[in-house]
Amino acid sequence: NLSDKLDKALHILKGHGQITEVNVAETLKEVRRALVDADVNYKIAKDFTATVKEKALGQNVLKSLKPGQLMVKLVKDELTELMGGEVAGVNLSGNPSVVLMSGLQGSGKTTFSGKLANFLKNKKTKKPLLVACDVYRPAAIDQLHVVGEQISVEVFSDRGNNDPVAIAKAGVAHAKANGFNVVIIDTAGRLAVDEVMMTEIANIHKAVTPSETLFVVDSMTGQDAVNTAKAFNDVLNFDGVILTKLDGDTRGGAAISIKSVVNKPIKFIGTGEKMEAIDVFYPSRMADRILGMGDVVSLVERAQEQFDEEEARKLQKKIAKNQFGFDDFLKQIQQVKKMGNMKDLVGMIPGAGKMMKNVDIDDDAFKHIEAIIHSMTPAERTKPQIINASRKKRIGKGSGTSVQQVNQLLKQFDQMSKMMKMMQGGGGKRMMQMMGK
Ligand code: GDP
Ligand code: MG
Repeated sequence: NLSDKLDKALHILKGHGQITEVNVAETLKEVRRALVDADVNYKIAKDFTATVKEKALGQNVLKSLKPGQLMVKLVKDELTELMGGEVAGVNLSGNPSVVLMSGLQGSGKTTFSGKLANFLKNKKTKKPLLVACDVYRPAAIDQLHVVGEQISVEVFSDRGNNDPVAIAKAGVAHAKANGFNVVIIDTAGRLAVDEVMMTEIANIHKAVTPSETLFVVDSMTGQDAVNTAKAFNDVLNFDGVILTKLDGDTRGGAAISIKSVVNKPIKFIGTGEKMEAIDVFYPSRMADRILGMGDVVSLVERAQEQFDEEEARKLQKKIAKNQFGFDDFLKQIQQVKKMGNMKDLVGMIPGAGKMMKNVDIDDDAFKHIEAIIHSMTPAERTKPQIINASRKKRIGKGSGTSVQQVNQLLKQFDQMSKMMKMMQGGGGKRMMQMMGK
């Protein structure tokens, strides 16, 4: 019975069984996989898990009361450390202080220049001036002016001048003469690293001696971001990194790799196109985000506590034989309800969170789902494909729901069956086996 099983599970977790060891090894493997999936360089990911393993052994994780939780903590702390540990500030010394943007074309320099100006302006003590040094495209100057208007920050530009070094200097002089205490210099980038661009940015750098030189990089460029960062750092020895476009599906692995390779702190992140979409970079939050890919350990722990092992074995057989039906679905729902929030749980399965995003099963929806299934005949439950239009109407009436809701459930069921079949292969299979043990 359940209490026996709980006892057994606890016994295992106390370090007397071998599942714990499997846990640690499996967890580290999952972590490494998650890191690589998140665009972390393979070698960095490997070194990382080796370090964690060493620490885990040093702290006798296997003998601890809650090995899973301790593992997660170790991994998170180590990730945080890898990304710089502390929040890094921006050096705004000098009057005016000069902030120079560098980076490839399209990385988000102009957008970030505006965001930073807005961010500083809101601090009240700062009066920023934006300077347009991208002289190659008239549109680039216009773009900065549009940004400046949006946030009510003055933009210094000189359309007749095609010497960015001269404009940068004139911009700083304009700031001095007009009471601006921060100068943010937006520069031109190219599609790839080239010598002309590097020489130009180096010359601007020399001419205005910024207190803060920032390298702006698109987090979606993954591994390439690291090479670009290295090239810019070799020339500029920049002070910090700005990671843009973290609002998309990117996992932020570039953050780890860049920090490891150039050893410069990430200072801000961009999370959207709007001027407000700027955040200070918190290494520990990023670690959470990266780990959010699959909190495998707590999934295993919770599953061990709550999952009925006998049921799990039966279920696995059914899925393998393609016999998974609505009765099983109902049982699953009851299991899941025991375990806690469905979305939480699904989110713990690596890769599944994304897939289930559109499915949107919330706890309230369970009520409808259960009612609909209860209105199905046994035949309909085992063979959902026989549910035609007139059956749908009857089920809807019987359960007090609409045909649309019935349709929705059928679709959800279909997706879930597909997911379970997928879990039969690859990492999911091992997880099911662990649950079954
Ligand atoms: P630049 O060539 O380096 O000056 O890059 P831009 O600032 O012109 O940005 C290039 C594109 O990326 C523009 O379409 C921006 O709106 C967009 N962009 C910049 N930062 C972000 C961000 O944090 N998130 C998203 N989603 N888009 C961004
Ligand atoms: Mg630009």
